[in-house]
Amino acid sequence: KTITADEIRQSVEKENVRFLRLMFTDINGIIKNVEVPVSQLEKVLANKITFDGSSIDGFVRIEEADMLLYPDFNTWLLFPWGGEHGKVARLICSVHTPDGKPFPGDPRNNLKRITEQMKKAGFSAFNIGPEPEFFLFKLDDDGKPTMKLNDKGSYFDFAPLDLGENCRRDIVLELEKMGFEVEASHHEVAPGQHEIDFRYADALDAADNIQTFKLVVKSIARKHGLYATFMPKPLQGINGSGMHINMSLFKDGQNVFYDETTDTQLSEPAMHFLAGILEHARGLTAINNPTVNSYKRLVPGFEAPVYIAWSQTNRSPLIRIPQSRGLSTRLELRSVDPTANPYLAIAAILEAGLDGMNNGLTPEEGIDRNIYRMQDSERKANHIQDLPSTLHNALKALEADPIVKAALGEHLYQSFKDSKELEWAAYRQSVSEWERDQYLELY
Ligand code: GLN
Ligand code: MG
Ligand code: MG
Ligand code: MG
Repeated sequence: KTITADEIRQSVEKENVRFLRLMFTDINGIIKNVEVPVSQLEKVLANKITFDGSSIDGFVRIEEADMLLYPDFNTWLLFPWGGEHGKVARLICSVHTPDGKPFPGDPRNNLKRITEQMKKAGFSAFNIGPEPEFFLFKLDDDGKPTMKLNDKGSYFDFAPLDLGENCRRDIVLELEKMGFEVEASHHEVAPGQHEIDFRYADALDAADNIQTFKLVVKSIARKHGLYATFMPKPLQGINGSGMHINMSLFKDGQNVFYDETTDTQLSEPAMHFLAGILEHARGLTAINNPTVNSYKRLVPGFEAPVYIAWSQTNRSPLIRIPQSRGLSTRLELRSVDPTANPYLAIAAILEAGLDGMNNGLTPEEGIDRNIYRMQDSERKANHIQDLPSTLHNALKALEADPIVKAALGEHLYQSFKDSKELEWAAYRQSVSEWERDQYLELY
């Protein structure tokens, strides 16, 4: 699809759009937006809207503050809610420097850079199907989130246990109005936890969709008196929220990962790609699991991966290969959580996979047994490594991985590192309830 400036003008006229939200994403994956009244439409379409980049995390220093927003016309979308003050539409933008060059600190520009490399290597699309999970908590009378879950449901439960069902349905309907093709939505394993899966799309669209999805989920939940959170592990002792990433590489409408002539019907390039992700699994972790809290999810016993292995049958490893073949042949990376900046995560995963292909890497044998029941020595014998256990360790692993660093580029790597090191330093200084419970009376 390609939407033209004229089609946008017509849509504004026909739908009586009053406000334009110009969206982009900061280094931490947070959606930012500049809202302008529709009187500024021509300025928007001519890439003339400026904003102060120095106040956005990971962007620029004060002296280079004025950045330009270049809207991607293909992301034109009317928000079905709003109303009172007229309709609101959005455009997702690329950030450009004052002299009109794509700004290298913009995660979306960077993902475009990496997909260009993929195209040069002869592939047409990196298809991504995300499985975001989230919790619904009750809001208090002041509209603040509480830690009270709104149901006691569990995996695939029905109402009345699943009180989130109405809210989830509303979210699905809203997403459909916005052009999403929702493939499944269900209650997840933990109380108050849900998952909504939507149709795969090529890298950039998929990342845009993930950002829009989070916005919709949060807005609709609020209308139901609920707070939706994508925090990976809001409650100790029950499952956390992941965002499994299903992926496949396409060339001329064909799935490169599929080969009907092999015993597994997985192609040789698929195995190289898989090996690339395994090879860079430790370096990728800081990008895919970028918060202190992410690592409270990556522990044994809660269906989240801890060890670096893959399997065709077992659901617990880092990478699973779902049964389907043909066009839907894919790898499922299970470590990613919804706090990941989707533009950075998809770029880094793609670069890791392509590195596996460039170097003809082959994976260790798949592990079809439960890795969690193995002794340490057995894991060692099978060459099964751990994922980094803290944000700090993950940052060190990233530092040591030139391929994943190259997937971010110098500017983004530096701002990511700076931002995350500050986060870790702040966390290190905090003293938790757990420590007081353990030590206050004992010593
Ligand atoms: N919530 C689990 C996780 O943290 C996944 C559970 C599932 O989808 N089967 O990844
Ligand atoms: Mg799922
Ligand atoms: Mg799930
Ligand atoms: Mg899954």
